[in-house]
Amino acid sequence: MLTIRHLTAHYGAAQALFGVDLEVGRGQTVALVGANGAGKSTLLRCVMGLVKPTGGTIELEGEDVTHRSPAHLVRRGLALSPEGREVFAELTVLENLELGAIPLSLGTAEKARRIDGVFSRFPKLAERRKQAAGTLSGGEQQMLAMGRALMAGPKLLLLDEPSLGLAPLITDEIFAIIHQLARSGTTILLVEQNAARALSASDKAYLLANGTIVEQGRSSDLLNDAALRAAFLGAS
Ligand code: ATP
Repeated sequence: MLTIRHLTAHYGAAQALFGVDLEVGRGQTVALVGANGAGKSTLLRCVMGLVKPTGGTIELEGEDVTHRSPAHLVRRGLALSPEGREVFAELTVLENLELGAIPLSLGTAEKARRIDGVFSRFPKLAERRKQAAGTLSGGEQQMLAMGRALMAGPKLLLLDEPSLGLAPLITDEIFAIIHQLARSGTTILLVEQNAARALSASDKAYLLANGTIVEQGRSSDLLNDAALRAAFLGAS
């Protein structure tokens, strides 16, 4: 579904990605793990059209989308739940959700159907639909960021650090939802610093270090790789 070849990205003179190759098959959950600053968010932001790559190509279902706008990419079936949630604090839960579907220009009935879908997946959001997003807990804001992305009805969902700053029990809840989404057929590219969790939740994984893929394979194999555990997963 997604094929990335030789992708490079820069911030000014500083290079963040050095020729990354990555593939996500339809229906797969693929994890991208690596330390702080490895380039994981940059890669997702390139896929979503938010950072312009300086080299390489990104193909989505056979279409070269390397230089496409985020709005076009949403219409083509991509959605991003960004690192740090980036919900609009002053807007209500409902208003934040509506923002996720804007590039699609949906009719009222379809929008309402999608909002209902998000609320049935995240009942806590339904209870707080009229509450300002800034007053939600961290876990609820994460659910809102994911719900907003789901409003686009994505074929490929990009999740950036969904567990960041969340307590273990809330993280469990978020990963249970990721699992449900995967089971219902959504293809997922998951960025996580918590590598053990990401590997447990995915089919395939890539390890990024200093802007380069240094290891890839079946998540279960990587999880059991003693050398990898020692080098990259620490005690987790
Ligand atoms: P983290 O989990 O901390 O976000 P990451 O693996 O997602 O780490 P990136 O955020 O992609 O890493 O950062 C990759 C490199 O690019 C880092 O050296 C970072 O300092 C740099 N970088 C990221 N965003 C910017 C920016 N807006 N301007 C300049 N440099 C940036």
